[in-house]
Amino acid sequence: MRLPLIAGNWKMHGTIRESVDLAKALRTALENFEGPEVLVAPPYLALAGTRRVFEGTKIKLGAQDMHWEPKGAFTGEVSSTMLKDVGVTHVIIGHSERRHIIGESNDLINKKVRAAIAAALTPILCVGELLEERNMKVTKEVVERQTTKALEGVSPADASSVVMAYEPVWAIGTGLTATPFVAQETHHFIRNVLSRVVGAGVAENMRILYGGSVKADNAKELMGQPDVDGLLVGGASLDAAAFNKIARYKES
Ligand code: PEP
Repeated sequence: MRLPLIAGNWKMHGTIRESVDLAKALRTALENFEGPEVLVAPPYLALAGTRRVFEGTKIKLGAQDMHWEPKGAFTGEVSSTMLKDVGVTHVIIGHSERRHIIGESNDLINKKVRAAIAAALTPILCVGELLEERNMKVTKEVVERQTTKALEGVSPADASSVVMAYEPVWAIGTGLTATPFVAQETHHFIRNVLSRVVGAGVAENMRILYGGSVKADNAKELMGQPDVDGLLVGGASLDAAAFNKIARYKES
């Protein structure tokens, strides 16, 4: 039984005040909510403020990235130790904006996944193909390579805590969403890859989120697919009412 997870990625949006206000609006909207697990990943500077707002609620706190070393001379970076200190439990790793804008490689993403697990943080590991790759019909090769490389050296027991996120790059922030059919097909493929890498029993229990222009009006249909275990939401998570509706997809 895989508990659905609805996660919001606030990216580089919002001052501390704006993030705290958004967190407050979300706390109010989700009061007494008994649905899926809900998590948000605010910008680093807003983590402490939003954690205070979420205290006493079930809303979990995630970070958008982390360095692979717990401390050291890495100017500008943030470590797992710092994230845990501020109350973070999950960390997004390998988001397409980090892969394709910042230039993170599969090797580097693997180091981060292993470091997150070693620090008892739950990695939300993102994989997904570019539009050119989809057009070249190499989606499966791309997500297979990204998944296997990222999990290299991770034991099946440790992998069981990893949350996967399939985010086709052409669907992120573009308004284009993978159809439920396309999402299901790729999620099913990823689960087969996971079965080979960590064993069928572990793969069966791992959550695979879908991300890419998720909105209140497509959340229910996406969540209706057997291998879609949650959603990673960018733009729509910046609006408490919209994110609340997505979290309550069952009610629509
Ligand atoms: C994301 O950044 O992970 C994302 C899915 O963004 P959006 O929902 O805006 O497409």
